[in-house]
Amino acid sequence: MTHKETVHIIGAGPASLAAAIVLRRHGFAVKVFEAAPDVGHRLSGDFQGLENWSSETDVTEQLRDIGIGINFLCMPYHEGTLYAPGLDPVEVSSDRPIFYLVRRGSMPGTLDWGLKEQALSLGVEISFNHRLDSFKGRAIVGTGPKGADAVAVGITFNTEMKDMAAVVLDDGIAPKGYAYLLIKQGYGTMATVLYRNFKKADDYFEKTLGFFSEKMDLHMENRRKFGGYGNFFLRDSQVRNGKIYVGEAAGFQDCLWGFGMRYAILSGYIAARSFIEGDDYDTLWQRELRPGLEASLVNRFLFERIGHAGYRYLTRCFGRGNPSRVLKRLYRPSLFKNLLLPIASAGYESRVRDLSCSRNDCTCVWCRCGTRACP
Ligand SMILES: Cc1cc2nc3c(=O)[nH]c(=O)nc-3n(C[C@H](O)[C@H](O)[C@H](O)COP(=O)(O)OP(=O)(O)OC[C@H]3O[C@@H](n4cnc5c(N)ncnc54)[C@H](O)[C@@H]3O)c2cc1C
Repeated sequence: MTHKETVHIIGAGPASLAAAIVLRRHGFAVKVFEAAPDVGHRLSGDFQGLENWSSETDVTEQLRDIGIGINFLCMPYHEGTLYAPGLDPVEVSSDRPIFYLVRRGSMPGTLDWGLKEQALSLGVEISFNHRLDSFKGRAIVGTGPKGADAVAVGITFNTEMKDMAAVVLDDGIAPKGYAYLLIKQGYGTMATVLYRNFKKADDYFEKTLGFFSEKMDLHMENRRKFGGYGNFFLRDSQVRNGKIYVGEAAGFQDCLWGFGMRYAILSGYIAARSFIEGDDYDTLWQRELRPGLEASLVNRFLFERIGHAGYRYLTRCFGRGNPSRVLKRLYRPSLFKNLLLPIASAGYESRVRDLSCSRNDCTCVWCRCGTRACP
């Protein structure tokens, strides 16, 4: 079955590629335009966590249900070590995977590479080195973050250390964020994620390195630096001048800790459904994604305020209970969160300026009316 309409997709991140795969499976012709020479170009082979707590359904099952195969490294993590200031390390473990470890970047085995292979094998056309700042007509826009509400810096390395996952909550090394060390099968990632003091990111990473060096015998060869940023914002509509925004281009991100991959893939899937079924994209994402996004915004509001005593409390909760259940509770909408939401929303300001276009005939991919990019 081939539909007449060719769907144009701008950007080839997880959000766009998920949309492309689902649309192609339903017989649409799909053309993707990617600014970089390959997928995953803004990432450097670092490990990331595909969270498994924002839904009852296991994330790998959810991916399969929506038509995304697992042809990339995707290893369940059931346990880890948590550190908070003034507290002995806390071991946590869970019957259900807390997250799945994936690798990001252009190389074989990464999530990005796997999604690209799936898309290409279905007949999706991907045009690399093809930046699109302007497009006339309907399109899906998945161009990633447009500003930094959080910044991550770190290193990847080869190692003889055993597999592990360790997370540190400490404003001295990751202001209002966290630092982590992930090791799997001789490969590792260490990073710090900051929600302020971005200019001092390198200093905070040095402190992270110092912290882990004190706690364990680090063995790291072939170190490579990486860094990146993410944005979060909530708007009522993600459809503008025929463009449907997905992933971080729509501000879809976990506001608490930056776990954006699941939102990216699900929003791509929802965008595809809006083409396939003719349903309104805004209605779909508001129903399926907004409750989780709002819960994450309230969580950030609280996390910003709890300080080191709160980090100790949270760490003890994870250690005492089942961390998967604690996380699920954190992200579940509730009356308490509903009451706090207006305060959290009023207090949150994304660093991404609203670049919305007010012209009905605008063709720009990311509206910059009045500037060069807007014709
Ligand atoms: C260091 C770091 C660590 C992270 N860790 C985690 C984690 O552990 N767990 C998690 O869930 N999330 C994590 N995230 C967030 C996650 O990576 C993102 O939320 C996710 O990649 C967003 O996907 P996306 O498809 O929206 O955008 P992206 O992955 O950013 O893809 C956008 C694509 O669009 C292309 N593009 C941009 N502009 C144009 C244009 N005008 N024309 C054509 N192409 C264009 C870009 O080149 C890019 O390939 C992390 C992010 C960073 C930076």
